Amino acid sequence: MTHYFDTLIIGSGLAGLRAAGEAVKKGSVAVLTKLYPTRSHSGAAQGGIGAALGNEEPDSPEWHFYDTVKGGDFLGDQDAIEVMCEDAIRTIVELEHLGVPFSRTPEGKIAQRRFGGHTRDFGAAPVRRACYSADRTGHAILYALYEQCGHERVDFFPEFQALDIVMDGNRCLGALAVNIRTGEIHAFNAKATLVASGGYGRVFKTTSNAIASTGDCLGIAFNKGVPLEDMEFFQFHPTGLYGLGILITEGARGEGGMLINGKGERFMERYAPTIKDLAPRDMISRAIMTEIREGRGIGGRDYVHLDITGVDKKILNERLPEISAFCKIYMGIDPSEKPIPVLPTAHYAMGGIPTDIDGRVSRDETGEVVKGLYAAGECACVSAHGANRLGCNSLLDTVVFGRRAGMAMGEFIGSVGKSEIKRDAVDAVKENIEAVINSKGKEKAGEVRAEFQKLMMDKCSVFRNEKDLTTLIQELSSFKERLKDISIKDKGSAFNTELLEVIELGHLIALGEVIAASALQRKESRGAHAREDYPKRDDENWLKHTFAFKTDRGVEFKYKPVVVTRFKPEDRKY
Ligand SMILES: Cc1cc2nc3c(=O)[nH]c(=O)nc-3n(C[C@H](O)[C@H](O)[C@H](O)COP(=O)(O)OP(=O)(O)OC[C@H]3O[C@@H](n4cnc5c(N)ncnc54)[C@H](O)[C@@H]3O)c2cc1C
Repeated sequence: MTHYFDTLIIGSGLAGLRAAGEAVKKGSVAVLTKLYPTRSHSGAAQGGIGAALGNEEPDSPEWHFYDTVKGGDFLGDQDAIEVMCEDAIRTIVELEHLGVPFSRTPEGKIAQRRFGGHTRDFGAAPVRRACYSADRTGHAILYALYEQCGHERVDFFPEFQALDIVMDGNRCLGALAVNIRTGEIHAFNAKATLVASGGYGRVFKTTSNAIASTGDCLGIAFNKGVPLEDMEFFQFHPTGLYGLGILITEGARGEGGMLINGKGERFMERYAPTIKDLAPRDMISRAIMTEIREGRGIGGRDYVHLDITGVDKKILNERLPEISAFCKIYMGIDPSEKPIPVLPTAHYAMGGIPTDIDGRVSRDETGEVVKGLYAAGECACVSAHGANRLGCNSLLDTVVFGRRAGMAMGEFIGSVGKSEIKRDAVDAVKENIEAVINSKGKEKAGEVRAEFQKLMMDKCSVFRNEKDLTTLIQELSSFKERLKDISIKDKGSAFNTELLEVIELGHLIALGEVIAASALQRKESRGAHAREDYPKRDDENWLKHTFAFKTDRGVEFKYKPVVVTRFKPEDRKY
């Protein structure tokens, strides 16, 4: 089946929905999503969305700007960060008007709490900057934006999985997707296409990310010659439930929770004397792993405790009900009475498809644009987060840059004619599907995936070194071979999730290879990228973004300077 729209949006998380609400003012919009729209991972966001409203204590967008630059270890592009922090207050007011039920202060203002790395007076002390809706902030915003799209003329295609983006030279023509319910391939012609397909935490064994966070569209874009930026920077959130990776929001520490080691010490006092448990995530994850390596895990084991027993029960019930329930359901622990066992969990991709501040995708390190192709949200890298994202800045990023991309596409569609996807693009996708269905190989997708994810976790997580990364890259090439040898039992067309899992695994393995290669070439430690063999940040040689390209010779790199406007790199002490 063939469709024609002005704008096509792949993904219905906050970035996709916010862009849709904007683009629909200028023309027809289709939103493709492999999940039902409100099941997007954005709905799992717990802790909050950052904006210097100053409702609870003095704050300013300038402090927010500084904290974001420093939190990102000075790799973030400061033009993008300034846009995000300056636009934050307007964004929250807009969301409030759209009906997001934010938690309130006693006098009725939007309530705010502390979060990692958010400070007043350029690092003097923690500040209350996170606007929240209990610990279901993402859910509240997702539903409000979805309802808004419902009032407009946005056409939703739920349970449609994008399989390819179609290019004609340097122009994007739209995308091809499978209707998961029927197996039918649909061609979506569009003047402008936005990739808003979210993160790819499923590259790692232990992750807070949803099953669907497999980075399909990054893999597709990379195959089409689009570079991927800063892929070595993957954030590990310090507090995943031990053994499961399910997230316990930083809001728990914002409300007074503390991290405790096997000796009963509040160890963050040693690593970040000023803001302690509210240091940025990269620092806390390294501190936890160091405590464990040096034998100070709980009972000498590989976890530490998050202790929120000192937080008032009323606050737990009102502001952290969801995570309290998670602890009871998954760990059998009442967190008001016992500490929670935690370990870092793969959480957020700082790297992704390179864009400018209006969502336009760059085809190279000089910023030349791919005509008609846009990206926003976690899959994109406008570099508002640099080498390490601060909590609450991702939800902000999705709505600020989603909106900007929506506006830019609205303008762009007036300047181009209709696109027409050719038959052979559709045939190529069908052939790939046939090849998986007809494969007689011996491998099982689930087994290959589990081994791959464990390998990435063992060799490329919180700490990295040349030896492990070199072995990892060698081993990953065998996974590419194993991928071709996977066969599936389901040969049908309706809801063939077994087939789709094989396709997703292909993208995961390709992204794992880019992450590993990017991590190997960056010979310094910065933000979430901690090299044991190069423990220092090296601004002289590495104050630049990595651009990874797919070539016949494998992954190759080019570099782009960091945009430094207001804050020069300095020592990162907390
Ligand atoms: C547990 C958890 C808690 C978090 N808490 C916070 C928080 O408190 N504050 C904060 O700022 N950030 C938080 N984050 C991060 C933040 O939620 C995400 O980075 C952000 O919501 C991503 O939004 P998105 O719109 O880019 O993508 P997502 O919300 O992930 O949506 C991706 C969309 O793409 C679609 N899709 C993907 N692949 C395809 C395909 N091949 N074809 C069609 N559709 C496709 C999916 O169906 C989905 O609709 C949290 C993340 C997690 C995992």
